[in-house]
Amino acid sequence: MTIRLFNTLTKTKEDFAPIDAANVRMYVCGPTVYDFAHIGNARPVIVFDVLFRLLRHIYGDAHVTYVRNITDVDDKINARAAERGISIRELTEETARQYAEDVAALGNLPPTVTPRATEHIAQMIAIIEQLIAAGHAYAADGHVLFDVSSKPDYGKLSRRSLGEMIAGARVEVAPYKKSPMDFVLWKPSDAATPGWDSPWGRGRPGWHIECSAMAGEYLGETFDIHGGGIDLQFPHHENEIAQSEGAHHNHPLAKVWMHNGFLQVEGEKMSKSAGNFFTIRDLLADWPGEVLRFNMLRTHYRQPIDFTVAGLKESWKMLERWYEVTEPLADPAPDAAFFEALSDDLNTPAAIASLHQAGDMALAGGLGFLGFSNVQMRIADKAAVDTAAIADAIEARKAARAAKNFAESDRIRDDLLAQGIVLKDGPGGTTWEVKK
Ligand code: AMP
Ligand code: ZN
Repeated sequence: MTIRLFNTLTKTKEDFAPIDAANVRMYVCGPTVYDFAHIGNARPVIVFDVLFRLLRHIYGDAHVTYVRNITDVDDKINARAAERGISIRELTEETARQYAEDVAALGNLPPTVTPRATEHIAQMIAIIEQLIAAGHAYAADGHVLFDVSSKPDYGKLSRRSLGEMIAGARVEVAPYKKSPMDFVLWKPSDAATPGWDSPWGRGRPGWHIECSAMAGEYLGETFDIHGGGIDLQFPHHENEIAQSEGAHHNHPLAKVWMHNGFLQVEGEKMSKSAGNFFTIRDLLADWPGEVLRFNMLRTHYRQPIDFTVAGLKESWKMLERWYEVTEPLADPAPDAAFFEALSDDLNTPAAIASLHQAGDMALAGGLGFLGFSNVQMRIADKAAVDTAAIADAIEARKAARAAKNFAESDRIRDDLLAQGIVLKDGPGGTTWEVKK
């Protein structure tokens, strides 16, 4: 089976041929750990988890290496730790742990390696030294900057010229920069800011260099797939390419670049000020992780997705219906249509449709679509049903019985039963449970 993937570099869908089928390598940019991840952050995690599972299915579990980093050095982290009056380490440890819990609850496998930026400072310094030696970077004023004019193909991923970038980006103009597009590889730290000794004085890395260092450490100079959200295409991924290729004799960083589309909430950009900002944690309090994951995968990963409560309810209903049909099997048998759809640039909506037709839930479990938690138990969870409506129905039935209208009280009981709710009359009154 050949996978076809849309490559942002070439803007075409290409047959995927791994550099080494015995070790298929993928890097996805991970979170900056200073606060709970939001549901938009969950999208790349889920999308690339599906790809990870598909690659493992095809090449074997032991033959796929998936690296997703943790950015634990960043000015947002410093600011938040100061605000909360805790140490940077406490903040990053706490947030990284919450992140791992949240994405696990969405049914994602842990990546093969989850490197932390602060544990790879030496590798970052080494790349920066290589870049300076190769004439791609210069030190100025305690900073080291990447000289974009030294790399004629800078902009090849996002297909922008330097002129367009300067016009379109909010670039920081600084006296030590030769060009406003030159970006920071290393910057000085004052006594109150985390810093490491380096040939350019005590300082800390820029964000982009972190990914180049960690990708190089675990995946080598050139690897198969690099992923992230569409917002990272420029400047982050463009800069990763410039740094890694500049340090590695122009050997390509990754063969295939993949970007997921953005997630909106109820038709609007998610923002704290608009009041439509949802962390994964918030949502997990009301919805099973499986429903959140399934809802995400009903839209193709390159399309924008509109995350709505109506969509979540629909997803929940679909899952419930499917689970009524079949029990998920531990070891699913492969199904041609399902894998064909996934192999076509991760066409998850088509894969879901194929399951729908086959009425076969077993497969879905195999790729973490579904079945990663016991949905039947989740369905049985009383939070899953409209408890207020059930309470009203119980009250109405009580009134009907008091009026000796047994036809009506039976009708109410049977109605509930048809929805999977069983009433139990006991000495303390009527209780209910979900039909097993
Ligand atoms: P950040 O912590 O902002 O660097 O984001 C971590 C990951 O989440 C990156 O791959 C982003 O592209 C992705 N991401 C952030 N916001 C959204 C969103 N609203 N929709 C989809 N992906 C997002
Ligand atoms: Zn990155």
